[in-house]
Amino acid sequence: KSKDTGRNKVTLFNKSMQDELSRSAEILEVLRHAIENHEVFLMYQPQVSIISKEIIGYEALMRIQSKTLGILSPTEFIPIAEDSGLIVDLGAWALREACQFTKNLIDESGVPVTVSVNISSIQLNRAGFFTTLADVLDQTELPPECLELEITESSLLYSMYDAATLFKNFQTLGVKIALDDFGTGYSSLNYLTKMPINTLKIDKSFIDNIAANKKDTYIAETIIRLAHNLNIHVIAEGVEDNNQLDILEQYKCDRIQGYLFSKPLNSKDIRLYLEG
Ligand code: C2E
Ligand code: MG
Ligand code: MG
Ligand code: MG
Repeated sequence: KSKDTGRNKVTLFNKSMQDELSRSAEILEVLRHAIENHEVFLMYQPQVSIISKEIIGYEALMRIQSKTLGILSPTEFIPIAEDSGLIVDLGAWALREACQFTKNLIDESGVPVTVSVNISSIQLNRAGFFTTLADVLDQTELPPECLELEITESSLLYSMYDAATLFKNFQTLGVKIALDDFGTGYSSLNYLTKMPINTLKIDKSFIDNIAANKKDTYIAETIIRLAHNLNIHVIAEGVEDNNQLDILEQYKCDRIQGYLFSKPLNSKDIRLYLEG
């Protein structure tokens, strides 16, 4: 434990790495505590029809209300939940919560909204996921066609054949499959032709400059046309202004999600949004 060894350690393992590690450890603690104490909750972000501008569904987005750290973003705690394996139970909870909430909302409002739920690759690769999904549908009595599973391309790194079979099994239950963050992963075009996919979500990074950069406009136009030719619906995520909306209208994107219409809302406010 000489001074020298200490100094060497510091060079190999620098301050920012250390900060990151202790932040991760802190979040893992907060996450465990949040799960035990029911401090995890869902927000719901409206998805509107590009034609009517009316809400046709929403995406469920996880949050943690921590006494020590305030509201935690999923971009921070989901990777830690995945690394620790906590995502399996946490994801199953989110699926159940989103389905139960939506079943109640449909019963109250009479509007057949769809709920989109993000599914992590860790959940997807567990043999028990199909049973969890079937149980949740059975127990909540949500009409299966009102549920859409959002899966990212990067989570499909294992055999395309296995993933295609898995997706077909989901679809036999009646649920829909959306490919999330489209364009940011690998072999996007391969997935489009080989996977049974209902919906494609164009990633926000393409939408950001869609009105300012001609190349991004062409990419969006091409993605939308390609998807439609393959009988796949298209949703744009991260739409923030009317210039972006104009272009997406022009190319007949089907659904829009973004701050232009609404930020993610709590369960009370999404009810109000739905009532108009
Ligand atoms: P995502 O699935 O791509 O979700 C869309 C993200 O974009 C959300 O961030 C949403 O709040 C944000 N967003 C939507 N419209 C706009 C906009 O107009 N401007 C900007 N700046 N942002 C917008 P959020 O809620 O922080 O979630 C981040 C990511 O965390 C999600 O990306 C998803 O990958 C993951 N995530 C969230 N909830 C869950 C969950 O329940 N399970 C799993 N496995 N992952 C989740
Ligand atoms: Mg998503
Ligand atoms: Mg997304
Ligand atoms: Mg995204």
